[in-house]
Amino acid sequence: MTKAMGMPTHEMPAYAAWAGGRHGAPELLAAAERDGFLPESCSYHRVHMGLLANVRDGVPIREDMQLPIPDIMFTAPLCPEMAHLADSVHRRFGVPVVGMHCPTPYREADLARHTDWMERELREVVVPALEKVCGRPFDCERLREVLAQLKEMALIRNECWEFFKRKPSPWTLWDYIVSMGPFIILAGERGGVEYYRELKAELEERVEKGIPALSEEKYRVYWDALCMYGWFGVIARKLANLGINAICGRYPWEIFPRPWLIDTEKDPIRSMAELIGEIRRVYAGELYPEIVSELVEEYRIDGLIMFAFRTCKNWSMGQQDVMMEIERKLGIPGILLDADGIDPRYYSEAQIDTRFQALAEMMEGRKKLRMRG
Ligand code: SF4
Repeated sequence: MTKAMGMPTHEMPAYAAWAGGRHGAPELLAAAERDGFLPESCSYHRVHMGLLANVRDGVPIREDMQLPIPDIMFTAPLCPEMAHLADSVHRRFGVPVVGMHCPTPYREADLARHTDWMERELREVVVPALEKVCGRPFDCERLREVLAQLKEMALIRNECWEFFKRKPSPWTLWDYIVSMGPFIILAGERGGVEYYRELKAELEERVEKGIPALSEEKYRVYWDALCMYGWFGVIARKLANLGINAICGRYPWEIFPRPWLIDTEKDPIRSMAELIGEIRRVYAGELYPEIVSELVEEYRIDGLIMFAFRTCKNWSMGQQDVMMEIERKLGIPGILLDADGIDPRYYSEAQIDTRFQALAEMMEGRKKLRMRG
């Protein structure tokens, strides 16, 4: 919606992931704590509050971590921490905030009702706020063009995702996650389509030349929840050294737009509401075990890594139960990894090594049992 009005837009999780991946998060997290934020609160939230506090106080900030204080903030909270972030940005820094209420579904049947509700919010809350800040009418035709580009990009992204079904896979979940950056930043722009075209061509070339992602793909695993952006390469290498390839996950697949919901002939605001509504499917408690089971079977998964993001209760909820349910139903073993996406205080190298090793042993044991019939 902001792109349709030509507004440069910063996306909250994207900045947190960037700060984690560039190792710029620790000093921003420390600044947030000096400003009164608890270390137990969401690290994505804290990294923003540290950044804004440093801008306000004139503390020098690394060039690659700099962002200005925004003119306006839009929020569609997926969790209470997002509402808390909006509240903090408004109260502490005087930034006007426009909030949509996006109810969390519990079951599939909730989605249609929620979508209708969100469509009304887009029309009655978001559009007037955009018109007010830009001083001109909302550009529905431009939104249609943005959505058309987004659809094209998402279709190619989905074709790339299909390569995960190959065994061995020509790429890893980490390669895919790197591509999520362009997906978010270039969504609705020509550059995004071109990026995915090049990515798809590279994957096709790897398949044609028989180049797998790992020299030996012994085991294929599912990764649950967000990513450990602060240790991206470390985790990828540790798994690769054990012959483990991360193939799919609830977050990287379910959270991104479904191209078939974008109908450029239709009212673009309705398409937006449908996209937001469908993305929320991943939060439906009743569907969580079903989503994981489907991925496990479809992508021939040998084990689960449930990343229990220490300061994000939203994505960690129910992980232990789902892990046990999948083991009972499909005989697939799993581990819980207790760490944080970007806060180094919750990172324990020894814990990670021990758990990855344990998972490799469980998967090997299961493989041998299956071979014995
Ligand atoms: S979903 Fe998790 S990481 Fe995102 S804002 Fe909420 S608590 Fe933070």
